[in-house]
Amino acid sequence: MPAWLRALEALLVPRACVRCGTPAEGGLFCARCEPLWLRPDPTPAPRPLTAWEAEVPYTGEWKEWIRRFKYPAPGLQGLDPAADAVVLALILRAARRLPPELRAQAVVPVPLHPARFRERGFDQAALLARSVARAERIAHLPRALERTRPTPRQTGLSRGERRRNLRGAFRARRALPPCVWLVDDVATTGSTLAEAARALRRRGARRVVGLCAARTPAGVRD
Ligand SMILES: [Zn+2]
Repeated sequence: MPAWLRALEALLVPRACVRCGTPAEGGLFCARCEPLWLRPDPTPAPRPLTAWEAEVPYTGEWKEWIRRFKYPAPGLQGLDPAADAVVLALILRAARRLPPELRAQAVVPVPLHPARFRERGFDQAALLARSVARAERIAHLPRALERTRPTPRQTGLSRGERRRNLRGAFRARRALPPCVWLVDDVATTGSTLAEAARALRRRGARRVVGLCAARTPAGVRD
């Protein structure tokens, strides 16, 4: 079964709660765990992003699920199916919270640096973007954005430093429709999303929505 279908199924079909394993009525959580659902704090989207939506804070168990999604154990041949389903379901829930006027005509992943693709073996943002596009029946434009140069890792940098580090790092390779969903697994300060949005807007996108599974709460950086 393709990843996007597993993620849709995780949203729609009763199964084990992803937090505690007891049967869930539907969706991802049992009745006991659903109220413990934590939304990230409502930090305004960094410009020129129109909006950003993430389902959970990038902390605790959510961080662990995303880590399992990004770095599957070697025996799993590239994917951890449980983590895959949870992270995809998170981003689909985030997408479904967007108001109708922010419904996109295209889904674009934040491109992974080629060197990092080689060391990791797969591109988690591209995987998420494809699943969101298929589940929501929106065009997927996986190669719409490219990195123009390697950028040093963002870890440990302040928002200003991240911005300087990323300036001009992306280029749109084609014209874009008026509203685009820009997909990544995790947002930290939003600097990467904002810089990628700038490139998309230069080629015709008027509204760019950052869509992530998780977001680092304001004041927490790593
Ligand atoms: Zn539960």
